[in-house]
Amino acid sequence: AIQVRELTKTFGEGRSFLGRERHVVRAVDGISLALRSGETLAVVGESGSGKSTLARMLVGLEEPTSGEMFIAGRDAAGLRRRGPRAFGKIVQYVFQDPVASLNPRRTIQDILEVPLKLLNGYDAGRRRARMTELLDAVHMPADTLNRYPHEFSGGQAQRIAIARALAAEAQILILDEPVSALDVSVQAQVLLLLQDLKRRFGLSYLLISHDLAVVEAISDRVAVMLLGKVVEEAPVQEVFARPQNAYTRQLIASAP
Ligand code: ATP
Ligand code: MG
Repeated sequence: AIQVRELTKTFGEGRSFLGRERHVVRAVDGISLALRSGETLAVVGESGSGKSTLARMLVGLEEPTSGEMFIAGRDAAGLRRRGPRAFGKIVQYVFQDPVASLNPRRTIQDILEVPLKLLNGYDAGRRRARMTELLDAVHMPADTLNRYPHEFSGGQAQRIAIARALAAEAQILILDEPVSALDVSVQAQVLLLLQDLKRRFGLSYLLISHDLAVVEAISDRVAVMLLGKVVEEAPVQEVFARPQNAYTRQLIASAP
């Protein structure tokens, strides 16, 4: 579903206006990895290891410094040149903070209608039917539509954000810490929901998380990032049973 080759992103290149060298950060440093169709690939690593930068490049929120990205078999840059619609139909991004990712001045109906209308071109009747199905799929009541984002708890808002991502009818979801802003009990519910949706709609997930319990619960494979590099990539059981890299061993040993 996604293939990345020698992907690099540096920040702070060039000189400041005073002519001094600026500090250069290699946020993502020559990463190669693949998300296979229908699987959940977890990207783990400590704060600042480059996880979100990788995700943001994949969805076009950040321009790579160098390297290649293929999404659904097509060159990501070429795909993006065909416009946000073509791109949004293939890959969707779910942010860490659900409330902040939903426009506070729009009702949930307005929010869900955007992808149904702009990405899928559905008429009013079809949109209405899809919105009902989507809310049902994420276990939210139908009266959700007339309400505003601030009226929902974190877990409910994340369900709505997931429904919006599903409304695009993309096959690939990039989930950037999708449950880390939620209570532990709510985390388990949202993870179960994500598992259920993946099976029902045949989705592929790139799951970004620093929480090894979350990763162990829903991933097929794991890529471990350290300082912008992938230091280990293996099936989830192997990573936990026989970690090959010293940093991975340390990460697992220090998990609560
Ligand atoms: P976290 O777990 O805290 O979310 P992360 O693994 O997602 O961390 P990134 O957000 O990808 O980490 O950041 C990787 C590095 O790139 C960090 O050193 C960060 O300071 C730097 N960085 C990210 N975005 C920018 C930016 N827009 N400008 C400058 N530096 C940035
Ligand atoms: Mg991040």
